Amino acid sequence: MLYFILLFVLGLAFGSFFNVLILRYDSDKNIFSFSRISGRSHCPKCKTTLRWFELLPLFSFLIQKGKCRTCNVKLSYQYPLVETLGGMIFAGVPLFLNSFYGITNQAFFSFVAPYWYYGLVGAWVFVFCIFLLITAIDFRLFIIPNELTALLVLGGLAISGFSAFIEKAMMMPFRTSFLEQYILVFPAFAHGIWNHAMGAIVGFIFFLLLSLITRGRGIGFGDVKLAFAIGLLFGWPDIAIITMLSFIIGGLWSVGLMLVGAKKMKDRVPFAPFFVLGALLVFFFGSAIVKGYFGVFGL
Ligand SMILES: [Zn+2]
Repeated sequence: MLYFILLFVLGLAFGSFFNVLILRYDSDKNIFSFSRISGRSHCPKCKTTLRWFELLPLFSFLIQKGKCRTCNVKLSYQYPLVETLGGMIFAGVPLFLNSFYGITNQAFFSFVAPYWYYGLVGAWVFVFCIFLLITAIDFRLFIIPNELTALLVLGGLAISGFSAFIEKAMMMPFRTSFLEQYILVFPAFAHGIWNHAMGAIVGFIFFLLLSLITRGRGIGFGDVKLAFAIGLLFGWPDIAIITMLSFIIGGLWSVGLMLVGAKKMKDRVPFAPFFVLGALLVFFFGSAIVKGYFGVFGL
């Protein structure tokens, strides 16, 4: 438990760094460019340079009741939200994967789990951090920075590489689908790295067609590249369920906004946040969701 709290606090600190990346991003420079991320943080209104005790993730926001200490301007809820999500990623991803792969938390923290497993957990934590950045930036600017999608592809190569390595070298089947036994819903035609490659190709082609049909207004090319990356990360059939969930959630969100009059039919809605939400749901609750779906029909 203590170790998960420490991981959460570490995640808060990373979340604080992600806020800097998100808020200083504009598409003219690489998101990680040094000139952008260096330099002290200051209040967005009065430009006062923040002292160290105003930079403590989450705590500073709570103690200052979400206001600048100098000019009292209300600070964006993005700060504590992204920080908290960072903490949840760092603690929640290992917690979930431990139970998914049958590794005890004690074994995990005393470093007696197989060494490849730490690489796998690290890769998924990395992927979810990139997901967080993509979601926040697409929400704000309707852009998915190419460098972030490229990092997701890198994570996908690492994760599919692990699955291939474990199946070949360790001679044991590797649980690659988060749908577990419900993988049979859409039979997997390939194992290991080929399954991930198939997910990437299916995701890419499907979203490419959508983007051509909607002439890039509904689905942009950034979403097509993101579909390739998420397909590579999750493989087949998980990419199919992720896509369905993201359309359902995105559709409900748009209808909801129209009903309350906040959006019109022609207004743009960023798609990446829903895509990431679908991926998150399949990762943590994949088999429960499919099981619940079949439960409705009494199967
Ligand atoms: Zn201020």
